[in-house]
Amino acid sequence: MSNPRNNNSFHVIVIGGGITGTGVARDCALRGLKVLLIERYDITHGATGRNHGLMHSGARYAVSDPANAAECMAENLILRRIARHCVEETDGLFISLPGDDLNYQHRFADACVGAGINAEIISTREAIALEPAVNPNLIGAVRVPDAAIDPFRLTLANVLDAEAHGATILTHHAVTRILTSGSATVGVVATDENGNRAEFHAPVIVNAAGIWGQHIAQLAGVTLNMFPARGALLIFGHRVNNMVINRCRKPSNGDILVPDDIVCVLGTTSDRVPLTEIDNTHVTNHEVDLLLSEGVKLVPRLASTRILRAYAGIRPLVAADSAATGRDISRGIVCIDHALRDGLEGFITITGGKMMTYRLMAQQATDLVCKKLGSKARCTTADTPLPGSEPGPETNEEDELLQPVSFAHRAAEGRHGSRIDMIHDERPEQRALVCECEHVSTAEVDYAISQLRASSLARLRRRTRLGMGTCQGKMCACRAAAMMAQRDGKPEQHIADLNTFLSERWKGIRPVAWGATLSEAQLSALTYQALCGTNLISSPTPSTLPQNEV
Ligand SMILES: Cc1cc2nc3c(=O)[nH]c(=O)nc-3n(C[C@H](O)[C@H](O)[C@H](O)COP(=O)(O)OP(=O)(O)OC[C@H]3O[C@@H](n4cnc5c(N)ncnc54)[C@H](O)[C@@H]3O)c2cc1C
Repeated sequence: MSNPRNNNSFHVIVIGGGITGTGVARDCALRGLKVLLIERYDITHGATGRNHGLMHSGARYAVSDPANAAECMAENLILRRIARHCVEETDGLFISLPGDDLNYQHRFADACVGAGINAEIISTREAIALEPAVNPNLIGAVRVPDAAIDPFRLTLANVLDAEAHGATILTHHAVTRILTSGSATVGVVATDENGNRAEFHAPVIVNAAGIWGQHIAQLAGVTLNMFPARGALLIFGHRVNNMVINRCRKPSNGDILVPDDIVCVLGTTSDRVPLTEIDNTHVTNHEVDLLLSEGVKLVPRLASTRILRAYAGIRPLVAADSAATGRDISRGIVCIDHALRDGLEGFITITGGKMMTYRLMAQQATDLVCKKLGSKARCTTADTPLPGSEPGPETNEEDELLQPVSFAHRAAEGRHGSRIDMIHDERPEQRALVCECEHVSTAEVDYAISQLRASSLARLRRRTRLGMGTCQGKMCACRAAAMMAQRDGKPEQHIADLNTFLSERWKGIRPVAWGATLSEAQLSALTYQALCGTNLISSPTPSTLPQNEV
């Protein structure tokens, strides 16, 4: 990657490395624009790395917001084509439970059909046969084309394609000033983690900073009223369901369970938080209790399934005065030309929407960028597969399955799609596992370090899933840190990184630290203290936790 500090003029600067910003950077790059994306931490640090991973069919919004539902369905079909390696085609069920209104189910199914969603009312017996984990007392079920989508993979694929088309991605730099000249924005000042500043110039700036977009707008001198709607989620220790399971009622707490690779994710809550709280992703005991009590109604087995961790994110919604919790606010796309709205030329905000409508959001923002720059280049993202999702040679699926390849190879292929050829695991030592839970091999770690700039354990986790499985990094973090130290010769840096990584894991474990989860966390803390001398858990250690918190 060229050093952007040496060449600081671009056609467009995109602020924010979530799915929206990376999608805009990709679309701009594919249209031949010289683009710089600036992210204050690593990619997916915001809501994109803290969501449910549900590729909606739109059914959830069909009753309340049919236009948004139809938009979801259209993008759902596009993502199945262009992001194959990020999508798991699970289908979904909307179930009604005793006490739920079956009239709502009929309204719901009609609304889905009206929005172009292929929804089908099925018998409860068929629902149980399709998804044995579902509550056997259900009284109704509707099958819809929901799916699961991996946010980390999707964002990374957009970054890879943007870079392949000449974009510059600058992470660990925060935009701290927007430069203006007269009534137009002309550039930004970005500050790195050591306080070093650099100026970058472009006639167009796209604010894709999610919930932090309000602050970016302030820097540009315009007003944007965001509505921070916080949502908490729980990850369970293994995958109990193979279909997305939703509750068929007006959207509420704990009514979606999404299968996610080897685990499953239950969510979510929705509470308005003050803007001063948008960096606080700590999950409360109340949120855990609420999610669990609702989740076991969908899938009773959750009551006896170990919870791995809890996390929370803030939805980047645009304020509506009447909203109390954020559930009433449309998930529709908000694309603002601040020249028209505020008289500030060159400044665009793209926000609202959902992860799964990111491509359309990027298209709308890039159309506006092109209009401002006088470019007639057309959007091609609906038809251009992302890196990893390019069609491969015709193969017979049965023959493929009979090929003598390791589990790790298959898992890596699932994660990196057609880029699997860049992972060299011909020799036995390259197939040795670093992360047993997620089947991440030495070869995949090497690939992530050399090709995906995985310079820390957190980056490695986002690019490979290492440390995301049942042991939450207890077994693999140490090995991966050693590999990184061997590669770059900086052991002290990687011991510090190991400490940070495991402390971060602990933050997510702490709200659900009871039973086996607590025992494992204690074992992990003691192992790392004894073997590596790390002060693993800088917040209270499991053994010092007050009783009422475990
Ligand atoms: C609990 C929850 C569950 C959800 N579930 C789903 C789901 O299942 N399916 C779905 O489709 N959508 C879901 N969403 C919505 C989805 O996550 C968001 O709509 C989407 O991720 C927003 O992406 P974004 O890129 O706009 O914002 P973000 O991902 O928040 O990205 C903004 C980026 O801007 C960066 N930034 C901030 N300030 C600066 C600065 N000064 N300089 C540089 N960079 C900066 C941040 O670090 C961040 O990385 C969910 C959201 C939440 C909170």
